Amino acid sequence: MISNIEAIPAFSDNYIWTLFNGNSAAVVDPGDASAVESFLNKNNLSLESIIITHHHFDHTGGIKDLASKWKPKVYGPKGGHIKGIDSELSENSIITILDTEFHIFETPGHTLDHIAYYSKDIGSLFCGDTLFSGGCGRLFEGTPLQMFDSLNKFTGLPEETKVYCTHEYTLSNLTFALEVEPNNVDLKNYFEKVTALRASNKISLPTSILLENKINPFLRTSVDQVKENAENYVKKKNLQPVEVLAAIRDWKDNF
Ligand code: ZN
Ligand code: FE
Repeated sequence: MISNIEAIPAFSDNYIWTLFNGNSAAVVDPGDASAVESFLNKNNLSLESIIITHHHFDHTGGIKDLASKWKPKVYGPKGGHIKGIDSELSENSIITILDTEFHIFETPGHTLDHIAYYSKDIGSLFCGDTLFSGGCGRLFEGTPLQMFDSLNKFTGLPEETKVYCTHEYTLSNLTFALEVEPNNVDLKNYFEKVTALRASNKISLPTSILLENKINPFLRTSVDQVKENAENYVKKKNLQPVEVLAAIRDWKDNF
């Protein structure tokens, strides 16, 4: 069973999550092979598996070099469009990595191929660029409705589930979230906490389903203040939850 999960920082704000079971490791979305290599060396780990959430280069760029050195099993979304994937996954696929079971969700929105990995055994969700702490992925390929449905697959998971997002976007997301929901006390407290963490250059992740349900405007499209401010932004009344999501996504893109 997986006993440790650690973040390897990469590029300007990516995290490559590394899962350990003894000296065996798996990495999630290795965009940068050299960052992974030095982490494996330093911690005396051998790479058994790579898991991929979507096709963007900052999540896949290291597959080729890592695969040729370690010959790991490489999991990722179906479709044959990501080079180096040898096990293609889709909704409800179940895989076992490092003696730990993972359930696959298809989560289109940020991209159409996006998938997420959830393990009940270790209470952990690897959500790629679908959910961020205080935010969600930009809609590069999918529709607001697809993102809405994808996020809804996460909100009902056990509250204590830890959420391993792949970018350090938390502080900027919370700055925006406070515009959408200025009266949310949990959000204000979390903003203070993350401000302090980032001031000392500490990671703000993982987050949890419990916390995100309380503070993330993209999961709170039915909350009165979120809805009202979305309506003010688009200058339209009676928005449905998915329209609220579309409005605040557009607002955030222009923030
Ligand atoms: Zn991406
Ligand atoms: Fe990314």
